[in-house]
Amino acid sequence: MTQIAIVGASGRMGQQLIRACHENDHTALSVAVDKSDSPELHKDAGRLVGLPDLNVLLSDRFPAPAQYDVLIDFTHASVTADMVAQSVANQRALVIGTTGFDDEVKAQIALASREIPVLIASNYSLGINVTMKLLEVAAKALGDIADIEVIESHHRHKVDAPSGTALSMGEVLADATGKALPRDGVYARVGQMGEREKGSIGFSTIRGGDIVGEHTVYFAMNGERIEITHRAMDRMVFARGAVSAAHWLASQSAGLYDMNDVLDIT
Ligand code: NAD
Repeated sequence: MTQIAIVGASGRMGQQLIRACHENDHTALSVAVDKSDSPELHKDAGRLVGLPDLNVLLSDRFPAPAQYDVLIDFTHASVTADMVAQSVANQRALVIGTTGFDDEVKAQIALASREIPVLIASNYSLGINVTMKLLEVAAKALGDIADIEVIESHHRHKVDAPSGTALSMGEVLADATGKALPRDGVYARVGQMGEREKGSIGFSTIRGGDIVGEHTVYFAMNGERIEITHRAMDRMVFARGAVSAAHWLASQSAGLYDMNDVLDIT
């Protein structure tokens, strides 16, 4: 059994992760952490999500190494650097689900992965990782002809934009077409900004209601258009993926991994 610590355990994703840990035959929840001002503090993690008691109380303390094998972080971008530093201090594996952190934190993650196994994915669903492969194929075939646009929709509470998944899609599209997002990405359009620049990759964001997560990539040509869409209807798809990935990560040596490694997609 892989012993799992969840940070952000009382959040939208954290609660699904508690359920996913419980339903996975290879994992057991051993630690649940959230902020000291969480109204759920000191409650049993199982009871928090409508399961029987799991004898794991929601705590505001980062766990000691003896308490867990792998830590799963789904919190806020401002917390990721601290999760990385504490995981290195504990010499324990880390699964990062949080999105929206900057290049400085990315560099810190790369450095940490020399000492501990780290898995990072902007989207832990199986479907999105297969979708990435479809995008690569389409972009390689149509990159010089099609105008490529990424459209993402999420619930009204999401704090970062474009979504981490949209940016990962952008990176796949840019790599496949010999482009670079810092130069070719277009993140906002307003006013008299002129015609669409050939070769750019556009991003559009929709926020509203309880949309779990939808991503569509347009390959727009003259007289025809391909749309590749992934829709997540239930947060459990991310949670199940992250928990399976944590179990996989527990037996890996130090390094930086993504879902292609876990799913063995080449
Ligand atoms: P949320 O706001 O519902 O939950 C975040 C939780 O983290 C809250 O309970 C909050 O109290 C807690 N938290 C914040 N700072 C903390 C700290 N310092 N210590 C302990 N706990 C802390 O948000 P959410 O919808 O669950 O999303 C969380 C993150 O996961 C976001 O960055 C989101 O974009 C990302 N996400 C990733 C995927 C994926 O597949 N990678 C899927 C969905 C969401």
